[in-house]
Amino acid sequence: MGEKPGNGSKAAAGMQVSWVAYAAILVVGLLSLFSLYMGFINYPDNTDVAIIYMFIGAAGFAAIGYMLVRGKPASAKNEPLEVKKVEVFTTLECPKCQQKRVRDFKRGDYVFKDDEPCTRCDGMMMITKIARKKEEDGKKKDESNWL
Ligand SMILES: [Zn+2]
Repeated sequence: MGEKPGNGSKAAAGMQVSWVAYAAILVVGLLSLFSLYMGFINYPDNTDVAIIYMFIGAAGFAAIGYMLVRGKPASAKNEPLEVKKVEVFTTLECPKCQQKRVRDFKRGDYVFKDDEPCTRCDGMMMITKIARKKEEDGKKKDESNWL
């Protein structure tokens, strides 16, 4: 069967963030529904309590709307200005076992810096290269050159 090789950890990290956001929205939504339900139940007997429950429910739905709007900042509007994305990658190499690793550039990175312990041996991985990558088309997301 055509099983694709692993898509890397970036996609997994992105999914994790959205999963948390959706879980939060779901929880708030259920609480809001529950509050509205309690409001309708209490309305004939205890109007004051019912109004408080309904207010909580409405506030919950407002919060969900706010979260959804914030989650999609630029999908509705077509941005006239194209922001040039410049990604910088840091290449690490272990001098002992020659293990190579590429990660996103972090503030404070410089070439020949002993950056982090090697995952394969007890050596320290050294930064050997810091390179910039321009995304010209947006579709060209070929990172194979860097791995
Ligand atoms: Zn090593």
